[in-house]
Amino acid sequence: MRIVADTHTHTISSGHAYSTIQENAKEAFANGIQMINMSDHGPAMSGAPFRYHFGNLEIIPDSLYGVRVLKGVELNIMNYSGKVDLDGYYLEKLDLVLASYHDICIKPAAIEEHTAGAIHIISDPYIDVFAHPGNPQFQIDIEKVVKAARDYNKIIEINNQSVVVRRGSEKNCLQIARMCKKYGVRVTTGSDAHISFGIGRFDFVAKLLEEAEMPEELVITTSLGKMEDYLIERRKRIGKPAGRKY
Ligand SMILES: [Zn+2]
Ligand SMILES: [Zn+2]
Repeated sequence: MRIVADTHTHTISSGHAYSTIQENAKEAFANGIQMINMSDHGPAMSGAPFRYHFGNLEIIPDSLYGVRVLKGVELNIMNYSGKVDLDGYYLEKLDLVLASYHDICIKPAAIEEHTAGAIHIISDPYIDVFAHPGNPQFQIDIEKVVKAARDYNKIIEINNQSVVVRRGSEKNCLQIARMCKKYGVRVTTGSDAHISFGIGRFDFVAKLLEEAEMPEELVITTSLGKMEDYLIERRKRIGKPAGRKY
């Protein structure tokens, strides 16, 4: 299967990433990627952009150098009751919203808490994707979380960086992929690139999807049509008319 969208990329705005949105788009094009989501870290992470960054993303063209550019965020999950670090005012303007656990923003706790937190996130209408769910530092009850994604029609991420920066994720990621297949939950693919060279690099993701024998129809990033359909679905869910973002 061919992946044409990368829904998790960082720019220099994240503070600890090193490429501009132009550089990312050019590299995406060179790597055969047709769509990227600009998902810089939410404001609670040190060095991440102030919230105004997310209010001004509309000035970036929807397409750069032949690549469709989504305006998004990787929110920080701040507690186990569903608190994140941007409010609805900003989130309703965005195209695709990721949320994830980072130990610099929330202290790891017990599996029950990680699971409850993830389910709160998945039930939040503004949040589309639970990102890098395989992190063993924030071990979840995989079946419960995937079932919640099914119930709320949300997306689970398979993250290419998980094997590199979140050691021990591999086993969890495979189990998550298998569970998504079992329950018919859509997955997305994120390079989590922090420099342009990583955009659209899906070596780990491709291996994992193959191992899990994931049906192509569940991988939302294999066609632009599926991605655009999802964006319409999101806008309907949050009560924004289709085709009008702002
Ligand atoms: Zn992350
Ligand atoms: Zn990230």
